[in-house]
Amino acid sequence: MTHPPPPARWRHFVDALTQLLDGQPQEPDILDQGGELLAQLVAHDDWLPQACAQAHPERYQQYLLHADAHGRFSVVSFVWGPGQATPIHDHTVWGLIGVLRGAEIAQAYERDSDGLWRPQGAEHRLEPGVVEAVSPRIGDVHRVRNAFADRTSISIHVYGADIGTVERSVYLEDGTRKRFVSGYSNAAQPA
Ligand code: FE
Repeated sequence: MTHPPPPARWRHFVDALTQLLDGQPQEPDILDQGGELLAQLVAHDDWLPQACAQAHPERYQQYLLHADAHGRFSVVSFVWGPGQATPIHDHTVWGLIGVLRGAEIAQAYERDSDGLWRPQGAEHRLEPGVVEAVSPRIGDVHRVRNAFADRTSISIHVYGADIGTVERSVYLEDGTRKRFVSGYSNAAQPA
């Protein structure tokens, strides 16, 4: 079996996801079928442009790869330098996470009756090719980190909005909430 060359792989992913959303599916179908498309995309690490694979020495990077013209989804490469981690945060929209290179450790959180955030279940490790989903419906709060202390990891994230512009929240374990808008690490995209 032959595989399409790298740019065709990426183009196919964007086209197929656009087509999927054109059908106005319910979220479970988006996560299911979109997750399969993302799994196919991250099964081959040969298409991500170098410019969107650069780690920063101090903070993880979020490079916008594609923003849907109708604002229905965006695709971002998350580049983790050694040991880098997110705070506990939410998304407010559906999200799919597929590891392309290296590995990530993810921990889901839930709020207890005192309003404190506690780990929900065990930490789990996401290896290349694995796809995981988040959303307010199925669990939206987590913390993610690079599984490696000595190398870069990269995952591809798909969200049900132009995620860099969405107002969402970071949480401290004591329940404190801080609003944030992530933006993107790369220069503004053409409108
Ligand atoms: Fe996240």
